[in-house]
Amino acid sequence: MPLALVALPLPAQQAVAPFPTRQLAPGVYAVLGDTGRGSEGRANAGFVVTPAGVVVIDALGSPRQGARLLRTVRDVTRAPLRFVVLTHHHPDHHFGAIALKRAGARVVAHPERGTLSTAPNDEDPVRAWTRVVGELEMRGFAWADVPDVAVTRDTVLRLGGRTIVVAHPGPAHTPGDLTVWLPDERVLFAGDLLVEDGVTMLVDGDSGALLQALAAIDSSGARVVVPGHGRIPDAPGELVALTRRYVDSLRAATREAVAGGLPMSRLLARMPKVDATRPVSRASREQRNAVRVYLEMERAVMGFGGSAALGARPAALGSDQRPTAEGRAPTVVSTDSLAALLAGPAAPTLLDVRTDIAAYLKAHPPGAQYLNTETLRAAEGGVPNLLLPLSSYATLFARLGVRDDRPVVVYASGEARNIDATYVAWILAGLGHPAVRVLDGGYAKWELDDRPTTRTYPEVAAGRWAPATFAPERATLDDVRRALGRPGVVIVDARVREQYAGEAGPQMRRGHIPGAVNHYWQDDLVEGGHARVWRPREELRARYAAQGITPDKEVVVYCNGGLESSHVWFTLRALLGYPRVRVYDGSWTEWAEREELPMETGMR
Ligand SMILES: [Zn+2]
Repeated sequence: MPLALVALPLPAQQAVAPFPTRQLAPGVYAVLGDTGRGSEGRANAGFVVTPAGVVVIDALGSPRQGARLLRTVRDVTRAPLRFVVLTHHHPDHHFGAIALKRAGARVVAHPERGTLSTAPNDEDPVRAWTRVVGELEMRGFAWADVPDVAVTRDTVLRLGGRTIVVAHPGPAHTPGDLTVWLPDERVLFAGDLLVEDGVTMLVDGDSGALLQALAAIDSSGARVVVPGHGRIPDAPGELVALTRRYVDSLRAATREAVAGGLPMSRLLARMPKVDATRPVSRASREQRNAVRVYLEMERAVMGFGGSAALGARPAALGSDQRPTAEGRAPTVVSTDSLAALLAGPAAPTLLDVRTDIAAYLKAHPPGAQYLNTETLRAAEGGVPNLLLPLSSYATLFARLGVRDDRPVVVYASGEARNIDATYVAWILAGLGHPAVRVLDGGYAKWELDDRPTTRTYPEVAAGRWAPATFAPERATLDDVRRALGRPGVVIVDARVREQYAGEAGPQMRRGHIPGAVNHYWQDDLVEGGHARVWRPREELRARYAAQGITPDKEVVVYCNGGLESSHVWFTLRALLGYPRVRVYDGSWTEWAEREELPMETGMR
């Protein structure tokens, strides 16, 4: 019945009753959802009326609910709809956005739209959600959560004399969380950072980031806080404290389980039983959060870092300080840890990036797929070995079954070609993958440790990861030219000494970029168990510091074409936690051919 499907109109506004509202301050309204039902109830929303138009906060869970929300606004004001701010990309908060968009609102949202928690086993979230709310509710549906105005850091919206701060509190409930803060009225719309029973869903988020976001809410001095679901608390601090107690106790319980070797399944068996038909019931949220936080703690115990160990950097409300890529630095994984990960419940995507495919065919760890790094770059404007666009990487990694709820572990041969693995890690991190790992010692150590190998190809399901941006930690030729001689910047040449000195190299000119420090990437490795592994962190730290390559500086690394420099980038970012390191991927291949650019020869 395709004709009937396309002809279905949105429900007429007159036909729907408005939702109950509460005025929180002059011109500021909460649209009240259900109470007493936790995350299963209809969500809260809100709107702010200004002489220049209306800003709606969240769009509820279906076109029909969106239309009722619009009717609710229209009962208060005829002012034009200007914006709808989506606090995150869960269906119950934005599937009604199309109704507001059709009424003229521009969508303000975080561009990170990926979530998995709502229907973990469903390929199609619209079909899954339709089963939850019904066909009638979903009539006229179209996606409307792609931002017209993308917000990734705290952004001030001034409209009709009002100040509205749309803030990204970090990846707490989901990677694309936003909050709405009215500093003059001291009203905060918190989205699902807060839910009336204190048990917000962490499946798409991160417990450390959530604790940081709660601290920011506490210090904001909010008079009224509207949670994502349920009653508006009389004292905002009480709901924040309830949520913090829950998260703290879950972290403590899972940390203890991991430390004591209690398997996740046994931990879950001790928790309340779950009704499979109710994916966001309290028991279900508690179990699924336990799985997520158990994995966080496991990573912390294995020394993988991440927020479980460190906590994301706090994002104070109304401040402007947190680029979204932060906290995404990849990490190193030992052969022991990889073996544990492969045996665990959420096996990582394992990528074999050895240059020689025959080596892969002969033997690889079970589950590994082959990828040649040369697939990841091509000439551009005649310059060889440059990066490809986002769409190319998105297609490639989808084919490899990469998901953003699973770590990706990359390994190379582990001897002279470890750079292939760090290069892939650099690209995955640039695509915003949250859990990129490089195997220390590579395949050589895996084999020498006598770990299992196979000749069988793995079964791979298509990936569900759609990276929204490609923003690698990269410097262009212009960046490097501008950085020459600038204090606070150190340029690192990761090639062999002979190339740096100008005695060797295939390029048109031989030498190095003026002022560059030579730090050969292989010097960061040492013999370990007959394979080559990274030197101990303290040793690496001391070696770099002795060359003036310190974390307070902006570091730009180059080499021949981005591969060797990705190894230095990885060492500094993943092992030593340097905050600002970029790869000049055009490298000496590009620089040498441009004869007007300055160069030096000899050792410093
Ligand atoms: Zn949510």
